[in-house]
Amino acid sequence: MDLGIKGRWALVCAASKGLGKGCAAALASEGANIVITARGAEALEETASALRRANPDIEVRSVQGDITTVDGRSRALAAAPQIDILVTNAGGPPPGDFRQWNRDDWLKAIDANMLTPIELIKAVIDGMCERGFGRIVNITSGAVKAPIDALGLSNGSRSGLTGFVAGLARQPRVAGRNVTVNNLLPGPFATDRMNSIVAAQAARDGRPAADVLAARVARNPSGRLGDAAEFGAACAFLCSSHAGFITGQNLLIDGGEYPGTF
Ligand code: NAP
Repeated sequence: MDLGIKGRWALVCAASKGLGKGCAAALASEGANIVITARGAEALEETASALRRANPDIEVRSVQGDITTVDGRSRALAAAPQIDILVTNAGGPPPGDFRQWNRDDWLKAIDANMLTPIELIKAVIDGMCERGFGRIVNITSGAVKAPIDALGLSNGSRSGLTGFVAGLARQPRVAGRNVTVNNLLPGPFATDRMNSIVAAQAARDGRPAADVLAARVARNPSGRLGDAAEFGAACAFLCSSHAGFITGQNLLIDGGEYPGTF
C-alpha cells in the first residue's frame, strides 16, 4: 500500500533512538522528508545518516536540542518549510514512589509529557488546517489506559495530554480540515527506556536485571517485547492519506497485554 505521503514534511521529536527513530524510519521509507531531534549529537547524526543512506530521495534534517525547552522547540519547528506530519515524543519520567516526588518533579513530567506536545501542536495545527492536510501522532504510553504503579509521573502527565487531545481532535475546524490527532500507546518495547526501567527495578528489588526482564517478557501474552519498527509502521499508517477518518483515538500497541475487551 502506498501511504500517500511522498514529499510531505514530518517533524519527529526525540527520534535518535527507540520509538521515535522507528517512526522516523517508517515515514522516511514512505517518501516523507524528515526532521528528527534529540539532545545528544552523536546518536542523532548516526540516525540521520542512516535515514539518508536508506532513503536517498528524501531530505533528512537533524536538530540537536531539548524538545522540552522553548529554544529546542522553535529550532525544531523552523527546520522544515512546513510541517504536515508531527510526531510528538520526549523521554519518559523516572519511576519512583510519589511520596518522594516534589512539585519540581511533577512540573518536569508535565512539561515534557503534556505541555511540550501541546505547544508543538499549537505551533503547527493552524497551518495544517489552512492547507487541508495534517497528521499529528503523540507517543504516550499504555500507562494512560492501565496505570503503572511505579510510573505515577507518567500516568498523571500523559493522562492530561490525552484529555486535551480528545477535545482538540473533535473540533470541526480541525477534523473538518483533514487534520487528525491521535495517540499511540506503547506497551513494552525493546528500547533503552525499557532497559533503564528494568535496571531501576532490579536495583530496587536486589535481583539480576536479566531476571527482571525475563519476568517482564513473560507477563506479555505475545511472549516478547515490541520492536520499534512495528511501532513505526503503525505510526506511518496513522500519518497516511488513508487515515483521514481516524482521529481522537488512543491505539494500544502492546502485544495483547491490556486485559480489557475495549
Ligand atoms: P528511548 O529508547 O530511551 O529513546 C528516547 C529518545 O528520545 C532518544 O532519541 C533521546 O535522545 C530522545 N530524547 C529524550 N528526551 C529528549 C528531550 N528532552 N528532547 C529531545 N530528545 C529527547 O525511549 P523510547 O523507549 O523510545 O520511549 C519513547 C517514549 O515512549 C518515552 O516517553 C517513553 O516513556 C514512552 N514509552 C516507552 C515504552 C517502552 O517500552 N519503550 C513504553 C511506554 C512508554 P537524547 O537522550 O539524546 O535526547
